[in-house]
Amino acid sequence: MPVFYYDAQVFKVYQVKQLLDDAQIPSVIKNDFAQGAIGELSPLDSAPEVWLVDESWRARATQLLTDFLHNQRDLAEGHDWQCGQCQETNEASFGLCWSCQRPRELID
Ligand SMILES: [Zn+2]
Repeated sequence: MPVFYYDAQVFKVYQVKQLLDDAQIPSVIKNDFAQGAIGELSPLDSAPEVWLVDESWRARATQLLTDFLHNQRDLAEGHDWQCGQCQETNEASFGLCWSCQRPRELID
């Protein structure tokens, strides 16, 4: 079975597992709770991994993961921003400062 995704941050691994589960792509978690420290793995390499049960799912799984990470980035960027000219705080959806109409792009 091929490994698909791993991260030292366990919650990310579980997010990806959930993503695959939601799409009904068969996958398993390995190295969970360090119990899967199989032979060749050193302790430093024992972060959990998501493995695809069947390699034929990889293209679909990769597409899902790409979309997922892209959406996450969009959400992360969806925070209020401060105008560099007048220092007013603007909502994430605003493209112009509500106060002085300075375009957001010039600020970031
Ligand atoms: Zn402004």
